[in-house]
Amino acid sequence: MTASRHALIIGGSLGGLFAAHLLRASGWQVDVFERSSEDLAGRGAGLGTHEALIQMMRRIGIDADTALGVDTHSYIWIDSRGEVACELPLPRVMTAWSRLYRPLKDGLPARHYHAGKSFVSAEQAGGRVTALFADGTRAAGDLLIAADGARSTVRPLLLPQIKPSYAGYIAWRTLTREAEVAAADRMLFTRNAFCIPGGELAVSYPVPARDGDLRPGKRDYNIVWYRPTDSAALADLNTDAAGRRHEQIPPPLIRPDVIAAAKADARALLAPSIAEIFARGGRPIFQPIYDLASPQLVFGRIALLGDAAFVARPHVGAGVTKAALDAACLADALTANEDIDAALADYNDARQRAGAWAVARSREFGACVSAEVSRSRLSAAERDRRSERVFREYATLHAEVREWTKRAAHSVASP
Ligand SMILES: Cc1cc2nc3c(=O)[nH]c(=O)nc-3n(C[C@H](O)[C@H](O)[C@H](O)COP(=O)(O)OP(=O)(O)OC[C@H]3O[C@@H](n4cnc5c(N)ncnc54)[C@H](O)[C@@H]3O)c2cc1C
Repeated sequence: MTASRHALIIGGSLGGLFAAHLLRASGWQVDVFERSSEDLAGRGAGLGTHEALIQMMRRIGIDADTALGVDTHSYIWIDSRGEVACELPLPRVMTAWSRLYRPLKDGLPARHYHAGKSFVSAEQAGGRVTALFADGTRAAGDLLIAADGARSTVRPLLLPQIKPSYAGYIAWRTLTREAEVAAADRMLFTRNAFCIPGGELAVSYPVPARDGDLRPGKRDYNIVWYRPTDSAALADLNTDAAGRRHEQIPPPLIRPDVIAAAKADARALLAPSIAEIFARGGRPIFQPIYDLASPQLVFGRIALLGDAAFVARPHVGAGVTKAALDAACLADALTANEDIDAALADYNDARQRAGAWAVARSREFGACVSAEVSRSRLSAAERDRRSERVFREYATLHAEVREWTKRAAHSVASP
């Protein structure tokens, strides 16, 4: 490997950090440019992991075996009466954003991570690419990796017609301290729980506390509640108390009446145990759910990676794993082939297929979050039958994703 090869990575979140580590291990020099000047450890909430993600951490040399997160052993569906109506064995480690970010960030030499650098455009000539930043500085390399997320600045320069598409629903998210959870509901700390009222879906699970504490009694409980929300309702949710409308309202500006209504709806719709935890939790936030599929990932010496390339709806629960596998596939292709352009073509083929599958599969499943179903007048028995079907479909989807990521990890882990 030519030691002087140099990659510029735009975006210093999980996808960018995986790419930085895996390319360095392949002999590349890397520099990561992150728009935010803050440490990102406080970002994000709970995340479901897969064996493939743990393997990618191990490949980087990060000990992910011990205490990556909270072990859960099954998925349960809690029906409209609050009873556990169905339980399926499906072990999964649930973690927190910071437990992945911290070791990835700390393991990268600080001189190669440039915080507060906002990419604005790129120029390519003669197999070199130059990035231009908002502060007027430039950096040049042999490859630019766009790991700048769903709202990428790089992607629209290359694919102006591809825009995130609103799924028609939002996710309310909240974290509640374990100490706030009733003792009778502590069994939730070993399971992934599902409430499926009408056309809605709430998924909840234990995660490490924000400071990483994994001890029983000290952990957090994470709820993600998907609710059909049309564009007019979304515009109202995005309007602050001063009447200003935001494209995505900053969480502290979500109006108190909006939060009170969400808590009241939780009590009316979710199983009592989950509704109580939601109501007791910290201030809930909401995120509109979008997806996006890029028809092409490589443009000369620029490669899209992670959410910059594909955003699958969160139901596949594998966005971070996919970003890690994108990074491993790219590093392996560049190791296997001295010709950078040929390696990038291989990366494009392999990860385009993977991303397209994740987006299509998450769309298919996401159809269960439906305003039409919420409005329909089903009997309690009909609703329960539908909910059980959705629950079993979710478990099938996750088993598929587990196999899919395992296969992908196997093919990239031994180049
Ligand atoms: C509700 C919800 C639940 C989820 N649950 C899971 C789960 O259980 N498991 C899972 O694996 N995934 C989950 N995901 C998906 C996961 O969060 C994403 O797939 C993952 O964060 C993508 O990482 P990324 O590095 O590609 O992008 P991001 O994490 O979005 O990072 C992009 C980075 O680029 C930076 N940036 C942007 N523009 C610029 C610029 N112009 N210049 C420099 N830097 C820039 C940003 O500041 C940011 O730090 C979930 C997502 C949602 C919304």
